[in-house]
This record gives sequence, structure tokens and C-alpha cells, in this order.
Amino acid sequence: MTDGSGRGVERLPDRTVERIAAGEVVTRPAAVVKELVENALDAGAESIEVDVVGDGTDLIRVADDGHGMAREDARLAVERHTTSKLRADDDLRGVRTLGFRGEALPSIAEAGELTLTTAPADGAGSGDGDGPATRLAVGDDGPDVSDAGRAPGTTVEVRNLFADRPARRKSLGGPKREFARVSDLVAGYALVRPDVRFRLTHDDRETFASPGSGGDVDAALAVYDRTVASRSTTFEAEAEVDLDGRRREVRVEGLLCYPSVTRASGEHIHVAVGGRLVRDDAVRRAVDSGYGSLLPDGRHPVAVARLDVPPETVDVNVHPAKREVAHADADAVAGVVERAVRDALSTADLRRAGDVAM
Ligand code: ADP
Ligand code: MG
Repeated sequence: MTDGSGRGVERLPDRTVERIAAGEVVTRPAAVVKELVENALDAGAESIEVDVVGDGTDLIRVADDGHGMAREDARLAVERHTTSKLRADDDLRGVRTLGFRGEALPSIAEAGELTLTTAPADGAGSGDGDGPATRLAVGDDGPDVSDAGRAPGTTVEVRNLFADRPARRKSLGGPKREFARVSDLVAGYALVRPDVRFRLTHDDRETFASPGSGGDVDAALAVYDRTVASRSTTFEAEAEVDLDGRRREVRVEGLLCYPSVTRASGEHIHVAVGGRLVRDDAVRRAVDSGYGSLLPDGRHPVAVARLDVPPETVDVNVHPAKREVAHADADAVAGVVERAVRDALSTADLRRAGDVAM
């Protein structure tokens, strides 16, 4: 068989297939940070430090205090489609972890120089070496493994990202804009996971650090400022709705700023579904609607909405970077959010806060 160019159909070499798959996950430095931060969260980290140099192609480092990996697991982790999170016959609709495809680490290693240092939390399983930790430098012909010292947890370093992809490198927006994307991402996670300590540095300077206290206001103070933190209220609500033909519970909680500290863009409505930071425009619109006439024209709130829906009613596999989700019934979910926001704002003492004219 030939196509229009007169060439036959051939199977692509594995290496080419890998490069194509890698291109879908590793689109820019912030995408690398997202995968590494999500791995750290999946590992149960209580503290995550993200360091970026330049536009991120020079260096991205993500260090966590999660459960780490034994040497054999670390070796496997950098191979494609190896994961500890999904088993052959698991139903994709029920995934509770942020990762599950086993593609991130190999894709990143394909796009840049990846070094992983890891020590398991139980102190065992470092394999044949003396050191409690394993250092793995991924090169063109497999990983180079050595001993290292490290407290339990994992550090992943990526250097020279896109070094052999000049077109991809050129498409980046420069240090300021690429770092802003990283910062938005890490700030988003700090807001939806206030129970985890996040620290972000750019060129060795700290840009923010959240305390990991579990408090939404504390996280807002770290990511935004005193004005936002002091002019906000936390909220939580739950409701039963018809989802997927059954009565099911939907819960939402988070933070709502008062109408005096709104923003021009909806990007400050941070949404997480099942612990995953997502771009969920339906939920963003629902938050806006909940404010109703309290929002000045063209303004949007600073808000955090953590949604808990039955995992089998949400599909996280609609987007290569898992940045979007599909709800079985987006209207029902939006309805719960809108009511929760409206109720919370009608109870909050906006008058005393000076936000509504007496
Ligand atoms: P996925 O997250 O989809 O499973 P990844 O390529 O991101 O795939 O990671 C592969 C595996 O490596 C994970 O399933 C996990 O077992 C392990 N891993 C990756 N990062 C970490 C980390 N920071 N701490 C502990 N284990 C990790
Ligand atoms: Mg992952």
C-alpha cells in the first residue's frame, strides 16, 4: 500500500514513537514541573520544593519527602508504561492517584537529562549498594545507577531540557513567562493542597513558601497577600445529586474572597477535582454565578474550590496532560458549587467587612 507520496505504510521505530509520546506530555518547563509535583503528591509528600533556573530549560528540580523508592522500583520507574498506580485490569474510571500512565518520567528523560535520587521511607530495599539512597542518571543507553545519601523522599533534576529540539526551545516565551507558568502551577497546587508545604525558587531566590498548615487562609496569604487572605471566607457544602443515574454525594470546600478583591481574569478561581488541579471552566463559571450581582462587571473572584465527586463519575483521561476532566453530569456538579458559593456569601458578614454598602 502507498499513500499520496508513493511511500508504503511502515511501523515507526520505538524511539520515534517515544519521542512523539514525550512531545504530548512534555510541552514546556511547566509541564515537567506539573508531572513531578503530581508524582511527589502521589508519594504522600508533606513538603515539596521546586527550584527553577532561567526559563526552566537550564534546571528544574523537584524534591519531596514522600515514600521514595527502592532501587529496583527506581530503575523500573524511568521505563515507559511502568507505574505503581494502575494494574493491568484496573478500571481507568476509578483512578484516585494523579498519575497512572507511567509516561512522565521516561518522557521527561527523553526531552532532557534526568537524574533521580531517592530513598525509601522504610529505609530498606536499596538493593546491592551500601548507601540507603539510589542515584539514577538516565542516559541514551539506559540509566547509570549509583549509591547516594538522602533522607527518605525523592529528588528529580532535569537539565538541558529540549537541548536537541531547537524548534521547541524557540517556541518558549523566555524566562519571565515560562517561570510565570511554573509559578501559577505551583501556586495552584499550594492553594488546593494547603496541607502540603510548598516552596518555590527562581534563580535561587524564594518566590513563595506555603506553611502546609492545612488552612486555606494560610495558603492564600502565602500565594497572594494579606489583603486577599483577610478579605476571604472559607466554605464547605455537600449535596446529593443524580450522577450517572444514581444518587451520589458531591462535596465542595475551599475559599472565597470578598467582592472588593476581585480580579480581571477567571484564572484566579483554582479548581481541584479529586485532589487534581484542573482547568474546569464549568466549575469556574459556577463560582462566578454563585457571586451573582456581588461581582462587578467583568470581574472574577479569587477562589479555591476543591471538589470531591465519586471517582467513577469523572474521566481524567480526556487530555494528554490530564489538565482537563469530564464530569458524567457537569450541570449537576456546577449546581452544587453555585449553591454552595451563594450560601457561603450570604452568611459571610460582608457588611462588617465593608464590602457591601449599608
Ligand atoms: P505515573 O505517575 O503515571 O505512575 P511516572 O512516570 O510519573 O508515572 O512515574 C512512574 C513511577 O515512578 C510511579 O508510578 C511511582 O511508582 C514512581 N515515582 C515517580 N516519582 C516518584 C516520587 N517522587 N516518589 C516516589 N515514587 C515516585
Ligand atoms: Mg506521574
